[in-house]
Amino acid sequence: MTSSSSQQSNATGVTAVVPMPIQVVIDDVGWWSGHDGSQQQEPYRTGMPRNHVPEDYEAIVRLGRLLGVRPQAAMIMCEWDRNNILRKLPTSTWMGSNWDNSKWVGPWLEKAAHIIRSSSEHFELTMHGIGHEYWTDGKFTRAEWADSSGTMRPLDQVEAHLDNFEALMNQNQLGPLPVSFVPTAFLHGFGPTDGYKVSLAEILSKRGIVYINTPFEGMQNRAAVSHEVFGFDAGVITIDRGEDLMEWSDLGKTPTGQLHGPTCGMHWPNLLHTNPERNSEIVDGWVRFLQPFNSAMGTLLAANSESFRTQLVYHVCTQLTVTDDSIQFDFAKVDSLPRPPSQPELALKVRSAQMLSFKSDSIKLVSEPLVDVEGSYQYTLRLDRIPGRKEAQLHFAPRS
Ligand SMILES: [Zn+2]
Repeated sequence: MTSSSSQQSNATGVTAVVPMPIQVVIDDVGWWSGHDGSQQQEPYRTGMPRNHVPEDYEAIVRLGRLLGVRPQAAMIMCEWDRNNILRKLPTSTWMGSNWDNSKWVGPWLEKAAHIIRSSSEHFELTMHGIGHEYWTDGKFTRAEWADSSGTMRPLDQVEAHLDNFEALMNQNQLGPLPVSFVPTAFLHGFGPTDGYKVSLAEILSKRGIVYINTPFEGMQNRAAVSHEVFGFDAGVITIDRGEDLMEWSDLGKTPTGQLHGPTCGMHWPNLLHTNPERNSEIVDGWVRFLQPFNSAMGTLLAANSESFRTQLVYHVCTQLTVTDDSIQFDFAKVDSLPRPPSQPELALKVRSAQMLSFKSDSIKLVSEPLVDVEGSYQYTLRLDRIPGRKEAQLHFAPRS
């Protein structure tokens, strides 16, 4: 990961870094059937060899609770349609105007909705789509929001799909339209695509969406991205998902390997067990895999989407210098972004052979928890910027 804020050290070995935040994004949450129907012009769904159950939502909450984070659940909503409203939006499902969801209307809807509502600290509902693909004359093409080259679907269809996603949220009292979005099948264009004057991001921003997460590999107009792992499209920050650790239908596996960037992307089955009572075993494997990113010097697990976006911007754009007795910050590149972060808080990790005390009158020290790592002291400082200051100095001295 290239960034101007890689680790910086002084001659006495005091090292500082604005760590890269990591966020968990889980796709295709919301299906009740797990059946991969792609051979019958139905959606791929999750490929799970059983139906989904409310316990599968508990798995996401457990992951969030044990890691102290708020995973993003990118949701597909068609099988939550209690009133068959999607009959009026035939491009959204495989049954078109004959849409009938009655088999999936049952007490499990309210059970899952209750979990989502009562665990919002550890479950962020993110918009993914209604039926995931796009149907015309009984056949689907990939995908719901853009075609296979990433060109946006017709404007009136995009607006109608957004209206209906919101209506499905309302039917189930799941709150207003989410503020974040993951394009289905990762088919997406950065900026306006062929023949359109507006981008999907601009349409979404009018609905309150502030954040898009998608792999940049294959994204139309990727070259227009300004900062390698993120860019702004009509003011909406768009962040690279990179490559997932598992295949979309992998089930019951233990995660291994390297994260290639700030997003830890996965699909719902990756977190689940064929026996839902054993979901926690799979979740705990992810907890063991992800926990070390909190203790590592160069990374941390973001508590939620907002702190993730803020920290990522600071990670990439802050210029750090470590002198004999201070850490100096230059925030000029952060403040010149089309949309600077809405939060003042950033995290800084500092490692030193000696215990340190910190002091500053140009940045506010909120907290400074300390852990012992390999015989040195490692601090995770929470700092609040003082509005208007483009530079700051944080002084340190050995603690006597
Ligand atoms: Zn998906």
